[in-house]
Amino acid sequence: MGKRSTCHTPDVSIRLPDPALVVLVGASGSGKSTWARQHYRDQEIVSSDELRGVVGSGRHDLDASADAFRLLDDIVAARTRRGLTVVIDTLGLDPERRRGYRDVAARSDLPAIIVLFDVPAALARERNAQRDRPVPAPVLRAQLANAAAVSDELSAEGWDQIVVVRDHLAQTPDTRSAPAPSEPSHSGVDFVLQISRFPWGDDPTGWLKQMALAAESAGFAGIALMDHLIQIPQVDRDWAPIPEPWVTLGLLAGMDTGLRLGTLVSPVTFRPAGITAKVVATLDALSGGRAFLGIGAGWWEREHDAFGLPFPPARQRLTELERAIELIRALWAPGTKAYTGERVTLPETTCYPRPVSSVPIIVGGSGERRTLQIAARLGDGCNVGSAEASLRHKIDVLHQHCRQAGRDPADVAVTVLDVPVTGADRDEVRARVERLRGRTKAAVYAKTHHVGTFAEQRERYSRLAELGVRTVFLAPPHLTTPEDVLAIAPIVRR
Ligand code: GDP
Ligand code: MG
Repeated sequence: MGKRSTCHTPDVSIRLPDPALVVLVGASGSGKSTWARQHYRDQEIVSSDELRGVVGSGRHDLDASADAFRLLDDIVAARTRRGLTVVIDTLGLDPERRRGYRDVAARSDLPAIIVLFDVPAALARERNAQRDRPVPAPVLRAQLANAAAVSDELSAEGWDQIVVVRDHLAQTPDTRSAPAPSEPSHSGVDFVLQISRFPWGDDPTGWLKQMALAAESAGFAGIALMDHLIQIPQVDRDWAPIPEPWVTLGLLAGMDTGLRLGTLVSPVTFRPAGITAKVVATLDALSGGRAFLGIGAGWWEREHDAFGLPFPPARQRLTELERAIELIRALWAPGTKAYTGERVTLPETTCYPRPVSSVPIIVGGSGERRTLQIAARLGDGCNVGSAEASLRHKIDVLHQHCRQAGRDPADVAVTVLDVPVTGADRDEVRARVERLRGRTKAAVYAKTHHVGTFAEQRERYSRLAELGVRTVFLAPPHLTTPEDVLAIAPIVRR
């Protein structure tokens, strides 16, 4: 990992990278252990005092130091090898040991971070005096002198980040709490709740309605449903219910909400395009102009086979996608006159009810040569994956296609499907990762999924907003109940 500049960052209102190797530095009584417990789980903290208690007669058994530090090194090595966060709670004043920690972090490609506890000597003495077993005065004096001197050394040591903590209890920059108002803004991004699992027990209607009400009060702009005939393996078991989306959206259309309603995405292979035009126009009329249509080429052969539907090769499905969009638009246009277009000829376009709004057509899929080109030429939006690494490139490709087609890129909204593993705090996130990761290592899982607290997700969404994303279709895999939906409101809230 490339070393960043090690300017001393005052305090911890900034969020530290996670996972990371975190070394606490400060005299006795400077607040290291208290801070560590406030921000990390017990198992993530390795403390020389505690290990003295494990292998010696108690936390202050200095004769047990050598054994305690040997264990400490083992634990640090084991956790970093797995890419897991470890917080090293020792005085942190020994430069050789610090060098060892940096090496271990570098080997595991973990950020190496110093948290330096800077308290006035008088305060450290006062806190020390109040302890059950105060450190002898001369020892504390030496530690304090040492801690003051170490600050300059640290800058030269090549840490990825150095954070200075002063009176943290007074400021409580708590990484576990909901986002503070000063956080980066993702305003400009709409969130649509993508419901992909339907654990509705014996009350499908009640569950769906409660989910919709919860989505609205959490601040979602809409609800999107997957369009599949069998539940997909990425989400749940074969026998988990996966309702026909347009019928289901019809139920939600009858509720008194302002939620936009649509699919993400309907394969062109499921319904003749004319029927899709009719279905979505009807939903738009019933919902007072809140419908949208996500449409794509389809990908899962098995569901087609099972339901007796043809599944032609990709090239043909993409051609059908182009034809479908043209045909749908023709049927939604005013009047009933005959239509002759590039790919479609219709003797009349009599389709009532017409949509009452201009229903957005969002083309799903990120194939660069054709799918994004279809989105650029014929779509009101595209829908691609939310991984930042590829997103920038996909947007570039989309915009190139727009320019070639003579369309203003601003007319094709970039939307993403995002599947975050998230929770209010680190503990909740970790519990969800443990439930979902299967046999994948936690650190590997975190790298390949969007894992993080609500606050961390918000930061990511503000970056997506900067890239030009306008709508995030949000599909957190843990959502089971309306309460789960309400609980993720902090992600969505402006
Ligand atoms: P350590 O020796 O550096 O691990 O220090 P501790 O975390 O054990 O803290 C020493 C004492 O100071 C404890 O009684 C804590 O409750 C108290 N303390 C720690 N941090 C703060 C702080 O930020 N503000 C105040 N007022 N007290 C603190
Ligand atoms: Mg301590």
